[in-house]
Amino acid sequence: MIPYGRHTLYPEDIESVTRVLNEGFLTQGEQVPLFEESVCTYTGARYGIACNSGTSGLHIACLAAGVEKGDLVWTVPNSFAASANCARYCGADIDFVDIDPATRNLSLSALEHKLSVAKSEGRLPKVIIVVHFAGSSCDMSAIAALTSEFGIILIEDAAHALGGTDVNGHKVGRCEYSSMSVLSFHPVKSITSAEGGMVVTNDEKIASLLRLYRSHGISRDAERYLDLPSDEPWFYAQYELGYNYRLSDIHAALGRAQLKHIEKFVDARYALAERYDSMLATLPLKRPVLDRNSAWHLYMVELERHDRKTVFNELRARGVGVNVHYIPIHLHPYYKKLGFTKGMFPNSERYYDGALTLPLFPSLTLDEQDYVISQLNEILK
Ligand SMILES: *Cc1c(COP(=O)(O)O)cnc(C)c1O
Repeated sequence: MIPYGRHTLYPEDIESVTRVLNEGFLTQGEQVPLFEESVCTYTGARYGIACNSGTSGLHIACLAAGVEKGDLVWTVPNSFAASANCARYCGADIDFVDIDPATRNLSLSALEHKLSVAKSEGRLPKVIIVVHFAGSSCDMSAIAALTSEFGIILIEDAAHALGGTDVNGHKVGRCEYSSMSVLSFHPVKSITSAEGGMVVTNDEKIASLLRLYRSHGISRDAERYLDLPSDEPWFYAQYELGYNYRLSDIHAALGRAQLKHIEKFVDARYALAERYDSMLATLPLKRPVLDRNSAWHLYMVELERHDRKTVFNELRARGVGVNVHYIPIHLHPYYKKLGFTKGMFPNSERYYDGALTLPLFPSLTLDEQDYVISQLNEILK
């Protein structure tokens, strides 16, 4: 079966992990700060706080933004559940902004409309979590232009988008218009540390809160609170209710080695996306916008005339590991229990009805891609 996504490891990546196993600290050594530094150098953000997953990164990002019970957080339905769950971990209420059918990202007009309704009803969100779907960056400057007058904090769920750039040519993760960006290093993402994630930010206060929340809320920095004794050499103090969301040095070593391949990975993904784009042009399906700036995490088509389940099963039977991204978050049973129903976000639901994710990863061979295309041709013609 050709999978829809797969990591690519080089011998030097494996060597960097075995070096840590042989010589280094397994956790809380030098690999994590070095990984954070290299992600900052790459993205242009000032601070990086590595976590044991993108999901834990989203959680501490919400905490650092001050999200708590009674607050309102918005995100999009067309994402992985973690984009909304992180606000629920903090006890906040969640609501969604529908997507633009062309970009499949947050719709600017839907956002503008929802903001004006929320303003008149007196219930604006504290935070909006923006998702760069499939690796294609949202127009962050346009989003910030709509939200800044309300003081809404923007968090980028950039789990798909490391290696991508925005419309202004800045690397995703630079946080020019947002408070924080959250990256994931799960094996299907741009680079991998097996499990892992990172929050990047330019705000020193937020960075120090993120470090606290990542590690039990505990700090050894005696300067933080002057009323605590600081002359004992064993001093540490817990200031917040934090978690153990630390990344290990083994994972960080892999992430550091992988980051060196990022440009090559994204270029390979784009070349394959470009090939899909021209070779699928005559089929009855909608292709994604061929965005040169995207990190091309995933390649989704939308079927126009065929039943998605039939095509899905046919392709799987022929060894093509297609998938579906995403079941709209508000239609999961957990979110339905909170009051969301079908019909609330029609663009996300319509997109989902026809969506099919085709295999796309750096080591997908042209022969494998030709096979995917020929099978799709046979089934749809
Ligand atoms: C993968 C992903 C996450 C979560 O990342 P993990 O590292 O798997 O916890 C969050 N949001 C989106 C959109 C993702 O695709």
